[in-house]
Amino acid sequence: MKPWTHAHVLDLACFSLDDYATVLELAQRFRSLPVVGARKLPALQGRMVTTLFFEPSTRTRSSFELAARRLSADVQSFSPAASSLSKGESLLDTARTYVAMGSNVLVVRHGCAGVPQKLARDLEALGAGVAVLNAGDGLHSHPSQGLLDLFTLARHFDPEKPSPAALQGRRIVIVGDVLHSRVARSNIWALTACGAEVVLCGPPTLLPSLFNAFTASPPPGQSVDPVPRRGAVRVVRDLAEALPGADAVMTLRLQKERMRQNLLTSLDSYQRRYGLNHQVLALCGRPVPVLHPGPVNRGVEMAGDLLDDGRCCLVDEQVRNGVPIRMALLYLLAAAMPDVKEV
Ligand code: ASP
Repeated sequence: MKPWTHAHVLDLACFSLDDYATVLELAQRFRSLPVVGARKLPALQGRMVTTLFFEPSTRTRSSFELAARRLSADVQSFSPAASSLSKGESLLDTARTYVAMGSNVLVVRHGCAGVPQKLARDLEALGAGVAVLNAGDGLHSHPSQGLLDLFTLARHFDPEKPSPAALQGRRIVIVGDVLHSRVARSNIWALTACGAEVVLCGPPTLLPSLFNAFTASPPPGQSVDPVPRRGAVRVVRDLAEALPGADAVMTLRLQKERMRQNLLTSLDSYQRRYGLNHQVLALCGRPVPVLHPGPVNRGVEMAGDLLDDGRCCLVDEQVRNGVPIRMALLYLLAAAMPDVKEV
């Protein structure tokens, strides 16, 4: 495994191929540990992980907390509604409170893009020595979801050795509300880094053509792309064009809470044009896996019987893989700190 150089995990745009390889290798090791009996690893004993979620979450928060506990960390959960934020305390001061209590890793979700990055910068300026892990910020980035999707696909293509190489030359189709999806953005960085071709499919209002050039210039805030040769990104409008030859299909939730205008004529017409079911999936020309980051609008992005079909639907597998991926991230961040035991 190559040395880990990141003090925080904020965005996959700055991940190198070695970074992806390291996370996948570690996640595969954590995934193969028995899930019954003495399953706790002592790696983060004496460490504290705090989840600060300013937006709702079902999977991500509980998955991070379970991952932290499996590594023997202490876990604290911050809930904005019951906190002093309502008394006017700033986000930075709230975070500092947890740092003062001994938190080593802050897992942060916020509705505004850039909040985890700013928090990491401000805490660094204060010399806080704490790692920030972005658990989703606005439309911008959701690194742990991008990594668990990558891991799920790599395991599907190469169950024995799920490495970035398993994605090389694969065609992955991402369908739906790309505009409002931080998951799609993180997946584009991860999949293209591993040499996959990404085909984006959706209506112009939810998928502007400028996504064709998503990876064309260096990632935001960097002068060079850490990945010298990425797979291509292509925007198409119809599933009939997108699906033939696909190796996997990922569909995205319609993020109504982030839509500022009426971007769809009707839910029915969207569902008819972009909804996945077994018949539509047959356009791929062979059996392919289907992914969705959840939560799913059952019957809109995908038909209920497709969602329940464990032969091709990897949604439960994505959730399962989220835990070892988050264990890997917590381990990598906290291992750089002094006094952490080796796994
Ligand atoms: N759970 C994912 C996120 O937080 C996807 C979604 O909400 O649709 O971005």
